[in-house]
Amino acid sequence: MNNKRIYLSVSQPSGFEQNYIQKALDDHWITCGGPNVNDFEKILEDYLKDESYVTALNSGTSAIHLALILLGVKTGDEVICQSLTFSASANPILYQGAIPVFVDSEPETWNICPEHLEIAIKDRIKKGTKPKAIIAVHVYGNPYKVDEIHAIAEKYKIPVIEDSAEALGSSYKGKKCGTFGTFGVFSFNGNKIITTSSGGVLISNSKESKEKAIFYATQAKDEAVHYQHSEIGYNYRMSNICAGIGLGQIKKLDENIDSRRRMNHFYKEVFKDIEEVKLLQTVNNDLFSNYWLSTILVEKNAKKNISRESLRLAFESKNIECRPIWKPMHLQPVFKQYPYYGKDIAEDLFEKGLCMPSGSGLTIEDKNRIKEVIYTFFNNEK
Ligand SMILES: *Cc1c(COP(=O)(O)O)cnc(C)c1O
Repeated sequence: MNNKRIYLSVSQPSGFEQNYIQKALDDHWITCGGPNVNDFEKILEDYLKDESYVTALNSGTSAIHLALILLGVKTGDEVICQSLTFSASANPILYQGAIPVFVDSEPETWNICPEHLEIAIKDRIKKGTKPKAIIAVHVYGNPYKVDEIHAIAEKYKIPVIEDSAEALGSSYKGKKCGTFGTFGVFSFNGNKIITTSSGGVLISNSKESKEKAIFYATQAKDEAVHYQHSEIGYNYRMSNICAGIGLGQIKKLDENIDSRRRMNHFYKEVFKDIEEVKLLQTVNNDLFSNYWLSTILVEKNAKKNISRESLRLAFESKNIECRPIWKPMHLQPVFKQYPYYGKDIAEDLFEKGLCMPSGSGLTIEDKNRIKEVIYTFFNNEK
């Protein structure tokens, strides 16, 4: 039997990339910005609708950093951030010399908990500093509680940065994720639902913000014949070659979303009679997830030697990659001195949570190998 490694999520060429890359070479646009970049932004703007302005950058992390800069976050400011996420959501807060304030998750979507968000805001205000921004994440592609979170943000007049890095194609009440915040972010890193090899975009709702983002992303050059700078700039613009990959990739976006959602359905079927496992799924039809990664919770059963880790090792022994879900930021050594509001929801999810292979290119044979590990492990041959 084929024992090739099955990964969590690998990039999947669409076959259309080469034309756009070749065009960039033929046009001598082998640099940052350029026709492919403009076209890629335009396609995303049409896809997102709702007056979205898209700025293509060299990573999702850069996009989060620029969002903080555009919101005026400076040294000593406080920024609230969902704890259960990838570290790239929080690192840019430190780039600005600001202070992250972490907030727990709620169990329905695994994302930022409205209740603890409000407790955190009130307490920070009481202590003398009103948070400058809120970073909320659609983790694994599952929309957070948009109405609740944005109602709180509006009540206290705090802008939201919507970290939609994992959620291209997800939506909430029919509106695309990435378009709810003052700023939204997508990532096109190699493991995401489509890729530009490395890249990201910043989404805003005005032409001025987009122009300002491009200004900072291209070394903050003032309008002058010579090189003139009155602000600190960054080298964050997307390259025309990467945008070419993106133009080829985006043709397969809908197809990729379909296959990720089919993987989620596959796991639903496979795990349906296994009481120790709960698959994360959207709770109602307001929420549409691209199911970038399918994730499960494994309830410990010491008698049967069932745990998140023993299941992961069973997969590993068959050369199948599974990984624990994101370790919450407030438990990370690098962030442990910063404030945290919440209980132990994120921590509990982390103890039990496992990401399953979810790539857009998994074959029937791959699925059979995955299924076999699960049935053998749970002693549940069918
Ligand atoms: C991938 C990711 C990022 C960072 O994007 P890069 O393009 O890798 O810099 C940020 N936040 C989350 C939640 C991510 O998954």
